[in-house]
Amino acid sequence: MSESTIAERLRHIARELPPHTRLVAVSKGQGEIALREALQAGQRIFGENRVQEAQEKWPELKAAFPDCRLHLIGPLQSNKVKAALSFFDCIQTVDRPALVDVLAEALAKQDRAVEFLIQVNTGVEPQKAGVTPDAADALIALARQRGLAVTGLMCIPPAGEDPAPHFALLRAIALRNGLVELSMGMSGDYHIAAEEGATMVRIGTAIFGSRN
Ligand SMILES: *Cc1c(COP(=O)(O)O)cnc(C)c1O
Repeated sequence: MSESTIAERLRHIARELPPHTRLVAVSKGQGEIALREALQAGQRIFGENRVQEAQEKWPELKAAFPDCRLHLIGPLQSNKVKAALSFFDCIQTVDRPALVDVLAEALAKQDRAVEFLIQVNTGVEPQKAGVTPDAADALIALARQRGLAVTGLMCIPPAGEDPAPHFALLRAIALRNGLVELSMGMSGDYHIAAEEGATMVRIGTAIFGSRN
């Protein structure tokens, strides 16, 4: 890992991904030098897991690279909704009816176009965010009814389990709801996710190395 550069790792991953799979470079915990290197190598979609960290790191870089897109991939608290909507292009972690309500209300007061993914807790893990698979259809319907531009689903399979069945479950839920985007796969399992139809993989350490 340490012999290669961020640009080289980005090129390597891009060569491995099928045409239907876009790369979200997960830049949480990375500093400005690393972000600039990725931007200069042509990477344009980035994932951050905390609203405040993104607001501290990104304003100048967004101004310098106006076509870059930021995705929120971490949990969103209601009190951060307004800030998140003013800053992110896609929120991948819509996971509960109360959050849909707050998002819908805040969206009505501003006119940026923001995309939304519903996060599904495919392994039904109590400590993990995401709507359970059996409640996903209802949450998708509610989000649509409240006017959110829902384009797809996101999941993080349980650690240490074969992720393939989880990716397949996510794809099945998307299919029956007419959703296109599937955000699934991280550094350790993005090959499998791409094979299972991921339209976005979220990769951090395989690009940037370990985080502080
Ligand atoms: C950190 C994170 C990733 C990236 O994980 P890596 O193993 O570093 O590739 C992907 N998705 C989410 C939701 C994350 O929090």
